[in-house]
Amino acid sequence: MSSNFNLDDSIRKIEDFPHKGILYYDITSILTNPEAFSWCIDQMVEYYKDKKIDAVAAVESRGFIFSAPFAKAMQIPLILVRKAGKLPGVTLKKSYQLEYGKAEVEIHQSDVPQGKNVLLVDDLLATGGTMGAAVELLTMGGANVKHIFGIIGLPFLKYADKLPGIEIKTLIEYE
Ligand code: 5GP
Repeated sequence: MSSNFNLDDSIRKIEDFPHKGILYYDITSILTNPEAFSWCIDQMVEYYKDKKIDAVAAVESRGFIFSAPFAKAMQIPLILVRKAGKLPGVTLKKSYQLEYGKAEVEIHQSDVPQGKNVLLVDDLLATGGTMGAAVELLTMGGANVKHIFGIIGLPFLKYADKLPGIEIKTLIEYE
């Protein structure tokens, strides 16, 4: 499929969600468009196929959606980074700051592949707080995170500042 597909047309923009003054980029309109969804997964595979990625880790919940078909296409393990309290086994936990309050993410300790290169995936990168916490979890567990992928990037919110030394790829950026 062509690399100049217009992804912007498939992203619904919602004003004042979840708070007044926020423009929300909705990816459910990608999921209802098979051409757009396939294009996103194909772009991920094309970009990472030669980058020696051993496993993909996905952030709950929209990161799961894009990572699962990618993991299958690449035939690599998929590791779930979940909100606290959802995983039944022995976990590693990391709390991080939100705009208002705190959040906590967890992974199964035994799912982290020791010394392997893990690609971290979410739907959107904003301040980088969520990804930063996920990087710390995977690193704590013994994996290397050298690559991060998001469908959408909001560079004005400075996600790259929280993710030093990591190569970040997005399919579309908004200012
Ligand atoms: P950050 O931690 O980088 O500030 O925020 C990114 C997290 O918030 C991601 O997990 C992402 O799913 C969610 N998020 C923040 N803003 C948006 C948005 O406009 N659209 C979508 N789809 N997710 C968002």
